[in-house]
Amino acid sequence: MSGLSRSPFVRFGIAAVAACAMVGAASAAEKMSKPPLTILIHGGAGALEKGLYTPEEEAAFLGALEEALRLGYAVLEGGGPALDAITASITYLEDSPLFNAGRGAVFTRDGKNELDASIMDGATRNAGSVAGITRIKNPVLLARAVMEKSEHVMLIGEGAEEFAREQDLEFVSPSYFRTERRWSDYKARLAREKEAGRQGALDPVTGPAGNPETGDARQDKYGTVGAVAIDADGNLAAGTSTGGMMMKRYGRVGDVPIVGAGVYADNGSCAVSSTGWGEYFIRLSVAREICAQVEYAGKTVPEAANDVIHNRLQTLGGDGGVIVLGPDGDHAMTFNSKGMFRGVLVEGGAPQTAIYGEGE
Ligand code: ASP
Repeated sequence: MSGLSRSPFVRFGIAAVAACAMVGAASAAEKMSKPPLTILIHGGAGALEKGLYTPEEEAAFLGALEEALRLGYAVLEGGGPALDAITASITYLEDSPLFNAGRGAVFTRDGKNELDASIMDGATRNAGSVAGITRIKNPVLLARAVMEKSEHVMLIGEGAEEFAREQDLEFVSPSYFRTERRWSDYKARLAREKEAGRQGALDPVTGPAGNPETGDARQDKYGTVGAVAIDADGNLAAGTSTGGMMMKRYGRVGDVPIVGAGVYADNGSCAVSSTGWGEYFIRLSVAREICAQVEYAGKTVPEAANDVIHNRLQTLGGDGGVIVLGPDGDHAMTFNSKGMFRGVLVEGGAPQTAIYGEGE
């Protein structure tokens, strides 16, 4: 399933073209080809089917997605950089208990929250990422600090948190990330494993088929968050943040902080933020593979996203989705899971948000 759309280019009316002519033909031509300000976000992909949530819960998810879009878009509209726009959207989603990132993160097998995040600047291809974070309120801010204030790309665990202290980032108690809903999902999973005599099994709870025996699909969804945007200077940026996969082993690192898997941005090809079964996204270098197909194979953004998600990922047995944005504003929200929390806001348009696959 995919929710694909192609952005309209900004077109100028006769009056506007005449006005541009006054400042010179080159700048008029430049403006004619300028892509619209655009931001896309996701709040995770997975076993999301109609009926899973109450209308009130659906409204809460859609409202949070719309607010995240608006916050990011306001930055773009104010002339701010794509990096600031995605940071605004992602920190909002990290703070929301509804998603599996920041507050509301899923639990490891031993009942802890370990967070991963990443960010990438399409103009410079600078990148920053963090893994195994337990006490930083907004992991994406730490990933950004790694990109901008250190000579490294990735920092993990205690070293990352020591760096966060130097950067004056906000610390919270590990219990800040815990929500009752996630905790009861975790306890229910433990109970199911015990009942099935599968204690210690390593199969991720968030596997592609969910849990058909129990019908308990709610906890089998993903809830990672991410954003991609293009600003008034035509620069792309991408970022992703997650609590990872429920029941992951202590120390497990997923695709999110792996540049080229869970995140990628290059003004020359595209910006991508991924969500799904991270091990597969790492093995396929999903984010970079999509941009490489755009760059080397001349595919459009939707074509490249389709190939990677519906052919390559599907064939390998992985599931999840991506949001992708090209330098001309062409974009895609593509997933092979049942649904993906997602939203897009294009200059001149209204925010669009959705949860389920097309036709639902
Ligand atoms: N990709 C994330 C991970 O494997 C999970 C997700 O997207 O929900 O850590």
